[in-house]
Amino acid sequence: MLRIEHLVKRFGELEVLKDINLEVKRGEVVVIIGASGSGKSTLLRCVNFLEKAQKGKIFINGKLVKQSEKQLNKVRQELGMVFQHFNLFPHMTVIQNVMEGMVQVKKFPREKARKAASDLLDQVGLAEKADVYPAMLSGGQKQRVAIARALAMNPKIMLFDEPTSALDPELVGEVLSVMTDLAKKGMTMLVVTHEMWFAKEVADRVIFMDEGFILEEANPQDMFTSPKEERTLAFLKQVL
Ligand code: ADP
Ligand code: MG
Repeated sequence: MLRIEHLVKRFGELEVLKDINLEVKRGEVVVIIGASGSGKSTLLRCVNFLEKAQKGKIFINGKLVKQSEKQLNKVRQELGMVFQHFNLFPHMTVIQNVMEGMVQVKKFPREKARKAASDLLDQVGLAEKADVYPAMLSGGQKQRVAIARALAMNPKIMLFDEPTSALDPELVGEVLSVMTDLAKKGMTMLVVTHEMWFAKEVADRVIFMDEGFILEEANPQDMFTSPKEERTLAFLKQVL
C-alpha cells in the first residue's frame, strides 16, 4: 500500500531523514517509536507531502507519486492524517466538521454527506455529540471527531502523529480504543506513538527511529523482549 525508497529530507544543513526505506502492506499496522527529534513527524509529513523530500520515491498503492499539484491533491485524499492537536474547525459543529471534506472535496450532496458523517460519528462513539461545537468536547472526544473527519475522505492509509500526546491520561484509552477498532477492521495504519501498550497489542510491526535512520524493525514481541540494537534497548528502558 505504501513504499518509501531512499527518502532524504533536509532542513537547510540539518539532515533529518537519512535514507529511509519502508513498506507498509495493505491492512498492516506499523508503529513508529523513537526519541523526540528523531524524525518521526517529518517522515509522516513527507509521506503526506506536507514536506517535500530532497531525495527518494514514495509509492502509494503501487504507483509512484509525482510532485505535480494535481496528483498531490489526489494523493492527499488517499491519506488520512490525525495530528497531536486536533485542528477541528471551531465555528462548525461536530457533524459539520466531519461533513466538510465530503461536501467541499468529494462533492457529495449535503444529505448524503450528513448520513455518512453520522455513521462515522457512531463508529467513534460520538453520535450524540453531532450538533455541539468542538469547544464543548473533551480532548479525547475532539480527537475522536478528528479521526472521524479523516475517515470521511475514505482514505487508503491512516497516518497518526502522536494522537494521544496532548490528552490527559484518563482520555488516552478512548482514542486508542477507536484506533484499535479501526485496525481490526483492516485499515492500513502508520502510527507514531509513545503508548507502548498500543504498539505491543495492535502493531504488526514496530520501527525504531534514531537520528533520522530506521535503526531497527521487528514484530512487537521481538522488539520489546529482545531488541538487537543498544540504542533501542536504551530507549525502551526509558519509556517502559
Ligand atoms: P520527532 O517527531 O521524532 O520528534 P521531528 O520530525 O519533529 O522529530 O524533527 C526532527 C528534526 O527536524 C528535529 O531536529 C527538528 O528540530 C527538525 N525540524 C523539524 N521540522 C523542522 C522545520 N520545519 N524546520 C527546521 N527544522 C525542523
Ligand atoms: Mg513528532
